[in-house]
Amino acid sequence: MSAKRLSRIGLAALLCAATALEVTSASHALADQPAKQAFGGQKLPAVAQPESVGFYSKGCLAGGIAIPVDGPNWQVMRLSRNRRWGHPRMIALLERLSREAAQDGWPGLLVGDISQPRGGPMLTGHASHQIGLDADVWLTPMPNRRLTSEERENVSAISMLKGDSLYVDPNIWTPAHAALLKRAAGYPEVERIFVHPGIKKKLCDTVTGDRGWMAKVRPYWGHHYHFHIRMSCQPGSPGCKPQEPINRNDDGCGAALAWWFTDEPWKPAKPAKPAKPPKPKKPMMLSDLPPACARILNEPAPASIADVTFGLGNAGTAAAALPDAAPAVPAAAFAAPTPPASIPLPVPRPRN
Ligand SMILES: [Zn+2]
Repeated sequence: MSAKRLSRIGLAALLCAATALEVTSASHALADQPAKQAFGGQKLPAVAQPESVGFYSKGCLAGGIAIPVDGPNWQVMRLSRNRRWGHPRMIALLERLSREAAQDGWPGLLVGDISQPRGGPMLTGHASHQIGLDADVWLTPMPNRRLTSEERENVSAISMLKGDSLYVDPNIWTPAHAALLKRAAGYPEVERIFVHPGIKKKLCDTVTGDRGWMAKVRPYWGHHYHFHIRMSCQPGSPGCKPQEPINRNDDGCGAALAWWFTDEPWKPAKPAKPAKPPKPKKPMMLSDLPPACARILNEPAPASIADVTFGLGNAGTAAAALPDAAPAVPAAAFAAPTPPASIPLPVPRPRN
């Protein structure tokens, strides 16, 4: 066999390998798979115009940005989960809430889960948080020092409840907690805030004066360690499916709240009939999500995390450039965050 022929074969083999690779990656992109695996494996967002696609519990996110792990008035918890990504307006909202709450006297936010880099279902926890418009904020005030990354993984949040009752512990709950919820509910782009029914009841029993904001504060299971901020669908997201609007004239302190204090919401699920073993629940597949989500999985990633972190690179500018977004904060503010030592703590201060 001549060298010429050999090299031709070599070239053909190479081309063939390249084609095979293309075919593999193309079919990989189209292959159906559990959506939580496809999205749970994403390390970086899709570089694209910010867009929430689908519903809070069935969708994905393009153009997400990260909240820095530390800010002047916040610290992000559970960093290993890589869930500090959101729609740029959500990240801007958290920055604004942290700043304005600090002015109210709250020592700073401990930020829990927002979304995965490209949103979507998660391998663990949360049915929602899929489109970059949900964020959990701890009800534990931020301590007066930077937590180590180990602490951020392991420190437990403080329950607001008295023992295993449905009622708030008056030794833990403070007016500062109520002020924080009021501040968060006051933003027009915030549509709902989920709290434990005991917290809702506490607000119903104690808030005086303006109660208009309380319509947005909705009782829900869990949410006694943290509250959950849900934003409405934002401009530029035609595929974002809105939730039913709330009745702004109802503070939610009537029959809807009373239901939570009956046995019904807390009854264990009926045991399955022994003759019929329960079918294993089929996971949500990529094909169950809006078709745009498969495309978003394939969008290019940014060159670095800094490029897509609020206040750094272009991400902060992008967020600030959105109409009605919070004012831009200089990148320097993130470089050397000042612990909020001078801000009074709520009294009594929950242990942390
Ligand atoms: Zn949540």
